[in-house]
This record gives sequence, C-alpha cells and structure tokens, in this order.
Amino acid sequence: MARWEAWGKQAKQIGFVSHLLTGKETRERIGEQAQWVGGVWSPSDARAEPSMAAPAIATGAKNLGASVHQNCAVRGLDISGGRVAGVWTERGLVKANRVICCGGAWSSRFCKQYGVELPSANILGTAFKTTVAPEVIKGCLSIGGLCIRRRQDGSYTVALSGRGQIDLAPQNIRYATKFYPMYRSKIAKTQSAHQRLFL
Ligand SMILES: Cc1cc2nc3c(=O)[nH]c(=O)nc-3n(C[C@H](O)[C@H](O)[C@H](O)COP(=O)(O)OP(=O)(O)OC[C@H]3O[C@@H](n4cnc5c(N)ncnc54)[C@H](O)[C@@H]3O)c2cc1C
Repeated sequence: MARWEAWGKQAKQIGFVSHLLTGKETRERIGEQAQWVGGVWSPSDARAEPSMAAPAIATGAKNLGASVHQNCAVRGLDISGGRVAGVWTERGLVKANRVICCGGAWSSRFCKQYGVELPSANILGTAFKTTVAPEVIKGCLSIGGLCIRRRQDGSYTVALSGRGQIDLAPQNIRYATKFYPMYRSKIAKTQSAHQRLFL
C-alpha cells in the first residue's frame, strides 16, 4: 500500500486522478469474495469497446479529410532531397511532407532501417475473452497478476498482467541491456505473486 501511495503522489503530478482505498472501502466496491488490504480507485479512467472505438476514430479522421487505407502495409519512406516526401505502401506511393510512425511493436524495426534507434521490448502476453458471466465490478479491475474488463455483451476480457514471454529474437537481444532492470523487477514481482498464490 505504501508503494501505491507513493505511485499515486507521482501520478497526481501528471494529472492522473486516483484514490487510495482502505480494505473496508475496497470491499464495499468489489464485494466480500476476498480479504482486501486496500486498493487504488481511478474514477477518471475510461474504457472503450475496441471494435466500436477504432472505427469511430477512423470515421472522425475521415470527416477531417484523412484517407484511410486498410490492409495495406507501409514498406518504407519516400525520401527526396534528404527529406521525407511520402511512404511506399504495398499498393504504391502516398505523398506526404510529414510522416508519423505509429506502428506499435513494429515501429522499432521500421525505424532501424533509417538509422533511427527506438528501443522496444516485444513481450508476448496472454489475454482471452470469456463467455457471458456475472458482473463482478462495473468497469475494470486489476489485481496481482490479473486484469479484467467487462465487455458490452457481458463477457470479460481477461489478461494475465506482469507475466510475459520474451523470445530470444534479434530485436529483443539488441535492446536487452536497456530493459534488463525492468525484466529483473518483473521477475521479482512475479515470484512474490506466485508465493502469495501458493502459500
Ligand atoms: C491484450 C492487450 C490488452 C490491452 N489492454 C489495454 C487496456 O485495457 N488499456 C490500455 O490502456 N491499454 C491496453 N493495452 C495496451 C494498448 O493496446 C497499447 O498500448 C496500444 O494499443 C498501443 O497503441 P499504438 O497505436 O502505439 O500501437 P498499436 O495499437 O499496436 O497499433 C499499431 C498499428 O500499426 C500497424 N502497423 C505496424 N506496422 C505497419 C506497417 N508497416 N504498415 C502499416 N501499418 C502497420 C499495426 O497493424 C497496428 O494496427 C493492451 C494491449 C494488449 C496486447
């Protein structure tokens, strides 16, 4: 709880709204299924149904003049006179005098071919969708090793947090030293979470 309190103070400085709950307050929100030491409640957090939110964002962008090209990978930059002049896609050239790279886990590899270093650790996590299930909590709940989010159809997205698999692939080896402290802290937390689970 002391760690979360310290986190809350830092988060507040960047405008994040979170409240530390006592064990009793946590029980009042989530129920008596478990003995809660306490919790963190972030009332200004939001959740969105990805399959609805993503098309809505695309429609909004189109209304502002964007053209959206689906299932069409960008293969490289078009560079003219030392400046970016567009992108080469699977279906041809798209001219643009500015290009923003937002390729998620793929960005690092894309940038590298142009000598731009963007350290990233690609970690395989586990998430799955349940069938329709009783309401545990409105919104999202994150507890040691587990996150759940209720979906609009009454099912849940369940993610195993703090656990992941790192392939010994060139990308991960290249930046291993940069992420080593993070790997170490995750291993320490996972081990203590396991001990809590099995003791
Ligand atoms: C299972 C899971 C659950 C998550 N749950 C949450 C959550 O509840 N809340 C939360 O805040 N975050 C969550 N996250 C994290 C969140 O999804 C990511 O942080 C976020 O999506 C990153 O956004 P992004 O736009 O940077 O990258 P992405 O969403 O990965 O988007 C990158 C896009 O670029 C495309 N792309 C890549 N290369 C190319 C190319 N060469 N040409 C064209 N397109 C390309 C990819 O296909 C992809 O569509 C979750 C992540 C996962 C995996």
